[in-house]
Amino acid sequence: MGFRRSPAFTLNPSDKLKFVHPFTNFSLSIYFEFHPLYQLQFAHFQSPSYLCSFKSTNMQILKNQPLQPYNTFGIRATARHFVEVHSEHELRQALQSGIQPIFILGGGSNILLTRDFEGLVVKNDMLGKEIIDINDHQAIVRIGAGENWHQAVLWTLAQNLGGLENLSLIPGTVGASPMQNIGAYGVEIKDVFHHLEAMERATGAIHTFDKAACQFGYRESIFKKALKEQYVITQVYFQLTTQNHNINTSYGAIQEVLKQQGIQQPAIHDVSRAVIAIRSSKLPNPAQIGNAGSFFKNPEIPQTQFDVLKQHFSTIPAFPGEGGGVKVPAGWLIEQCGWKGVRRGDAGCYDKQALVLVNYGNASGGEIWQLAMDIAESVKEKFGIQLAAEVNVV
Ligand SMILES: Cc1cc2nc3c(=O)[nH]c(=O)nc-3n(C[C@H](O)[C@H](O)[C@H](O)COP(=O)(O)OP(=O)(O)OC[C@H]3O[C@@H](n4cnc5c(N)ncnc54)[C@H](O)[C@@H]3O)c2cc1C
Repeated sequence: MGFRRSPAFTLNPSDKLKFVHPFTNFSLSIYFEFHPLYQLQFAHFQSPSYLCSFKSTNMQILKNQPLQPYNTFGIRATARHFVEVHSEHELRQALQSGIQPIFILGGGSNILLTRDFEGLVVKNDMLGKEIIDINDHQAIVRIGAGENWHQAVLWTLAQNLGGLENLSLIPGTVGASPMQNIGAYGVEIKDVFHHLEAMERATGAIHTFDKAACQFGYRESIFKKALKEQYVITQVYFQLTTQNHNINTSYGAIQEVLKQQGIQQPAIHDVSRAVIAIRSSKLPNPAQIGNAGSFFKNPEIPQTQFDVLKQHFSTIPAFPGEGGGVKVPAGWLIEQCGWKGVRRGDAGCYDKQALVLVNYGNASGGEIWQLAMDIAESVKEKFGIQLAAEVNVV
């Protein structure tokens, strides 16, 4: 087969060539590792009969990158260096670039930027969704860390796989989901988690973590504690059901929506649609009002402390905590202190859900953080309960 040449191009050490066949969509990636001092000159070939092309995808470290589009709070801040990584190879290169400190960024939906970042922000764009094992009862799926969480949930539902439906419409990436063991409407990812792969930041080695190794807790994992900032999650594997799905409608709000729709025996798609409807009506859409979802965790207190509080605040709500104590909704505590709907400049406490702090436009990260600290202080004063931030303050 004859090839004709089109303009030549240059390959740098971190580059990748992707061969894409136009009709079959067959693609083949070729990675180049060679000494950084060398470059390779390549010709761009096209076959005469069908267009077969080589594409070069460069990993580019950008300087002074605005971060406002990369955080759902919409905070204005800048990264001194910024890079998007699409493969383990590129991630390893970024980690070994010598630029420090490094911050791993997913969808930016659980961070509060309080200043410019002076090091390297590495945005994880490692994609891919695949069923790797399936039988009559269950399937194991592998999802790249850079995949959008909600799109990944919809993809599992389209394959008729059950388990993630209650976690529909949570913003962010798949790679960040094990970080804080995301949860909503009676389900946490630990319930369907199989294992994950993560790159050790110091060595570039890939390690596997099963459920026990992740030490999942309420909005917690080992990656926020003992192994904080030591690993980058690259792939997450979930164990989902192929039939006889565990439909979880324990939350009253889900039951109400299903009842309104006349659905008595909900399928996984019905639960997902109900969760999407509830979330859309209750939570501010970050595309319209900057926010990072629940700003604080629900605190767990000892039963004895709760009993005393109950004598003074008879309507105080509670539910069992994982640690044997009593969990109190942080939103209720904040509302009781009069913060719901309060606005200070462009920083505010959302009027429909006191647990959510919002940026109405031009609030700085410092202003949001000051509001959060004042809220926490008044809750401590009134109830003697210390609130802890769920959002990662950078
Ligand atoms: C409107 C709204 C609603 C929300 N509702 C919920 C909810 O119901 N339940 C819930 O649990 N959360 C909720 N959240 C919080 C948020 O969506 C989740 O925590 C989500 O998992 C964050 O993903 P992300 O990719 O945006 O992470 P980012 O905000 O980019 O990062 C969060 C943390 O994880 C680290 N990180 C990110 N990716 C990786 C990786 N691949 N490897 C290692 N570290 C990494 C970052 O360094 C950072 O410390 C909500 C947020 C919003 C804005």
